Amino acid sequence: MAASVQQLIWILELFFPPELAVQQALYVLTVLLSLYPLLRLHLNQLNEARRQAPRTGWMGSIQVLLKQAFHEEANNVEAWTTGIDMAEEYSDYICRDLDRLYTLLGVTDDTKDPASFLFRHPRPILATSRLNCKYCPPGDRNLLPSLRRRRKGKAQRVWMLTATMQWVSADLLVGQCGTCKADYYPDTITKKVPGRKRTQELEYDAEYLRVSKHGVWVHRKIALSQENALHRFHSGWSNFADWVNDTTNDINMSLTYRQSQRLFIEHFSRRLLVAHGKTVGFSCEAHARMQVLAAKVREVVGKNGGIIAGAMRHGCMDCTHVKRYREGEVNVGDAAGVVGSEPGPIDPALIQEEPLPANMPHVLPRQEKPAPGQPCGYTRLSVMDGKSLKHHKCALDDCEGPLVNFKNGRFCEAHLDYRSICGIIPCGRPIVSADAVTCDDPTHIAWHKQYEDRFHRLSFPGVQRVIRRQMAAGDDHSHQLRGPSLQVQLQALGDTPGEKVVHTFKAKSIYCLQTIQWACGVPIAWGKCYRSESTPQVLSFISKVWADYPELRPSFVVYDKACDLLRHIVTQDATDLWLTSTKFIVDAWHYIGHQATDVLCRTRCNPAPTDGSQPDLVLTELDDHGNSHQTRAFNTETAEQLNSWLNGFESQLRQMTDINYDFYIHVLMLLYGEKVEKRVIAKNRQLTQEFWDEVNGIDRMEMDE
Ligand SMILES: [Zn+2]
Ligand SMILES: [Zn+2]
Ligand SMILES: [Zn+2]
Ligand SMILES: [Zn+2]
Ligand SMILES: [Zn+2]
Repeated sequence: MAASVQQLIWILELFFPPELAVQQALYVLTVLLSLYPLLRLHLNQLNEARRQAPRTGWMGSIQVLLKQAFHEEANNVEAWTTGIDMAEEYSDYICRDLDRLYTLLGVTDDTKDPASFLFRHPRPILATSRLNCKYCPPGDRNLLPSLRRRRKGKAQRVWMLTATMQWVSADLLVGQCGTCKADYYPDTITKKVPGRKRTQELEYDAEYLRVSKHGVWVHRKIALSQENALHRFHSGWSNFADWVNDTTNDINMSLTYRQSQRLFIEHFSRRLLVAHGKTVGFSCEAHARMQVLAAKVREVVGKNGGIIAGAMRHGCMDCTHVKRYREGEVNVGDAAGVVGSEPGPIDPALIQEEPLPANMPHVLPRQEKPAPGQPCGYTRLSVMDGKSLKHHKCALDDCEGPLVNFKNGRFCEAHLDYRSICGIIPCGRPIVSADAVTCDDPTHIAWHKQYEDRFHRLSFPGVQRVIRRQMAAGDDHSHQLRGPSLQVQLQALGDTPGEKVVHTFKAKSIYCLQTIQWACGVPIAWGKCYRSESTPQVLSFISKVWADYPELRPSFVVYDKACDLLRHIVTQDATDLWLTSTKFIVDAWHYIGHQATDVLCRTRCNPAPTDGSQPDLVLTELDDHGNSHQTRAFNTETAEQLNSWLNGFESQLRQMTDINYDFYIHVLMLLYGEKVEKRVIAKNRQLTQEFWDEVNGIDRMEMDE
């Protein structure tokens, strides 16, 4: 029979000291209930004993645990309001009549989960954490207008996924300002703007996020798990939803893929805007669809590229060193030697030097060491490269436009009319029927058919399989970018070889994601190359990135096409700031192969010259026997880890619209940067006061004297 309040009163009167603080008493009561399984074990053991042994180990433990409960300090109260601790007496006392106490409360062998028998969790209330309107000025008695409960739609029953991964039903209540009629939801505020429209602003520290307009809410902690799953397991939206559903295993409710994506976009819209310092003034249409929100956020944090928040001013011991100057005149070693690499044999017959561009000096000016007490500056090294992480774009080669329809469309907004002309360029004749992609020319129809047969049936794993086979057979020569490309044999069309036929039969992809990161791995910025990783595109990428931060340019950029880039810069404009701010260097492997044939590469791009001309890149240390050894000053291996981590997202990204792609890359860069910054702190690699003193030429010892 269920216990009534009367029984509870008796229990409190009989077993609990009246001077015990109320939080402590209720806590002891929950602990008591949780001990019930131990009492069963105790009674069972007594039954078996031939002679009645009054005490068992079980009962001993019950007593100890009860006493601890009376002492538990986490409740933050002075448990015994009179100051006299009577835990010992009372736990003894309760234990003597424990089975009667359970009977009074109505706990029996059939009670499931006795601990939550009395204290069920109430249904969560979802309401704004604000009290007053944030828009309206103070009114009567200088008070800000208070929020009232909105009249329309009193309490709404919604589903909520709790922080402990359970679906529960919750009550949503919306607040409203009586003056301006702004609606206050737990995660957003909507308000009227001129023209009968409403806009919304985000609540940045919202504890719950709405993931469906049909009343589904998710605790922010779940969004954090999603964030961690992305970082640790490369988990996409659908994977995460599947995992949540496997874990909650609730027959009534599950998280859909769309809701998982919505959670991601809601959570990271807030994270990105906060990280980029763009929360003030951000708004979009009220109750916006997730694509609208994502597009709006992308507009603010960077479309088709972006700078990672805080990265410009990043510095740590692994990417930033005090500037070093060349000591003395003696040059031991070879200007074209590379520290840590054996010189490869150079066939003199192959040497056909490409000369330096005319406006490039043959001898580099030497930097003089500043006088003691003068600032000597610092150097930062960055690593740049292109990664084969793509999204689809317009089928016309020269067009960078996003597709109107990413599911199965081929053209951007501006080129939609191309749907009605032949897909073989430059035919230009109208298509033969509404669903055709070529004109009525039989050779065009036939060429398209064989193209379809070769290509369209290949799925992404299929393409990868073919590439692996081609690589194994050694017939892949276009291994330029990370990740080889697929080569498919196509029939010739008239005189044009198959692979040279220009057509619009399927959407194209961007060429690569271009990233630049500090040597320690902190990403600085990203952008896209559309047709190839061409030097003009790469130059415009870095110029755009540092446009607002000319004084924060890296001292070194390691890039596998640094020589081409440098040649391009110097031919374009011999006074370009890049030529004085930054040295572009290649990796050792490229250098050993290229130095023989390219004087620019040999004289400007050596990653670690052995002649002492680049003390910032090469350290000379004396060992115990007095022999000098040269080592690289920067280790770029950590910067490479970003690449392998990003590669794990390739198949997810290639399915995405340009908006989702950009949003996702922003998120990945934000997360990666945060993790590296955490590692810098954990490993104590921050720049110290001594470092800055040295950079600024301040001698503390002298100052102390
Ligand atoms: Zn108001
Ligand atoms: Zn760093
Ligand atoms: Zn286009
Ligand atoms: Zn045609
Ligand atoms: Zn080169």
